[in-house]
Amino acid sequence: MRLSRYFLPVLKENPSEAQIVSHRYMLRAGMIKQSAAGIYSWLPLGFKVLKKIETIVHEEQMRAGHIPMLMPTLQSADLWKESGRYDDYGQEMLRISDRHGRDMLYGPTNEELITDIFRSHVGSYKDLPLTLYHIQWKFRDEIRPRFGVMRGREFYMKDGYNFDLTKEDALHAYNRHLVSYLRSYERMGLQAIPMRADGGPIGGDYTHEFLVLADTGESEVFYDSAVTDLTFGDRAIDYDSVEQCQGVLEEFTSKYARTDETHDEALFNEVPEERRRVARGIEVGQIFYFGTKYSEALGANVQGPDGKQSPVHMGSHGIGVSRLLGAIIEASHDDKGIIWPEGVTPFHCGLVNLKQGDAEADAACESLYEALTAAGLEPLYDDRKERAGGKFATMDLIGLPWRITVGPRGLKNGVVELTSRRSGESEELSPEAAVQKIVEIYANHQTGRGF
Ligand code: ATP
Ligand code: MG
Repeated sequence: MRLSRYFLPVLKENPSEAQIVSHRYMLRAGMIKQSAAGIYSWLPLGFKVLKKIETIVHEEQMRAGHIPMLMPTLQSADLWKESGRYDDYGQEMLRISDRHGRDMLYGPTNEELITDIFRSHVGSYKDLPLTLYHIQWKFRDEIRPRFGVMRGREFYMKDGYNFDLTKEDALHAYNRHLVSYLRSYERMGLQAIPMRADGGPIGGDYTHEFLVLADTGESEVFYDSAVTDLTFGDRAIDYDSVEQCQGVLEEFTSKYARTDETHDEALFNEVPEERRRVARGIEVGQIFYFGTKYSEALGANVQGPDGKQSPVHMGSHGIGVSRLLGAIIEASHDDKGIIWPEGVTPFHCGLVNLKQGDAEADAACESLYEALTAAGLEPLYDDRKERAGGKFATMDLIGLPWRITVGPRGLKNGVVELTSRRSGESEELSPEAAVQKIVEIYANHQTGRGF
């Protein structure tokens, strides 16, 4: 993409409405524009990152054997009346009536809809196990939408639902989700720690929230610092193996890590004092086994091998796709702007021409642009007639992890400059070597082309 032809409405001033750094940088970098409280338009740069995150979530869900589909944003109230949640959900639910006076709602979540799909089409254990998911906009009329996309009213969420014959099978699905979530967050360059959460009115031990540590997080968290040493890495996993998935769950959840809702002071005090941490975190996902709550309410039964009918065991599992943009920025920025991890960066590298209009510099940039594109990468070429300082400031703000700087002086010696946004370090390389290095860096981070 050439910046002269792109739409990147960067703001010079700090917007006064933004209280936290991610919100401030998303506005300044021209990623989002508020349309109403907690509702945003996604401008091209924001949309690009949103799609990259979405792609990672899809790839990891499909890798785990979960099946993508799409349910609507607007739902009829009937199913919610059947489950009893139409009255229970309260003011967070946006209720609408259509021209015929039928009660409708903008879905805050999809347990009812998916259970209805299941009961209409599945009746036998032979069709199980089954996990269906979608990534779709949700609406919750939050009392205090704030912090930009972190607590919106309209937000983008992956929600998946497992259907299993027995509790044991459903717990394997739970573990599979835990593993796939660990992989997803790591690909985004994030550490999200599974913490024991509150099962709410249904109770039970089977729910974990995934938290990214950040001072601006809304949850208070208590943990053994040893959990921050755990990484999933690129180990191979067989998602059908009950033992392997259970092993990962044990490895990642046996150390103390809880939110304030489930915090237990006595247990926490058993952690060696020097490893006890009290901090704040951003919830970027949650997994939940809730048994037969919805299948009983909606009559979703399956026939077992013994011929008997019983309600299917279910769980639901969410990732806050749009919130993740804010969480990643909270975890990765400096005072100049965002620092995107390679896995989600909107463009793979920036290309800065120090002397636009200089025949040699222009030609070198064109050939770098072509070489990067031919290698399957997307550069953002700042081809505007602007001062170098302004170009650098824009690149630093929008946070591309790598930048190639091209100027007449370097070209005389046959070199361009390759700079890491994260470390600030630069090296001089031939144009070919710079392309080669960027290609190698991204060999491990293929997220496909953006939009
Ligand atoms: P919270 O406690 O932050 O209100 P929740 O527990 O009600 O969230 P879930 O129903 O678990 O949310 O939804 C799954 C994921 O969707 C959450 O882990 C979070 O990342 C994201 N999410 C929930 N509410 C919002 C919101 N208002 N804006 C943006 N993302 C959200
Ligand atoms: Mg939650």
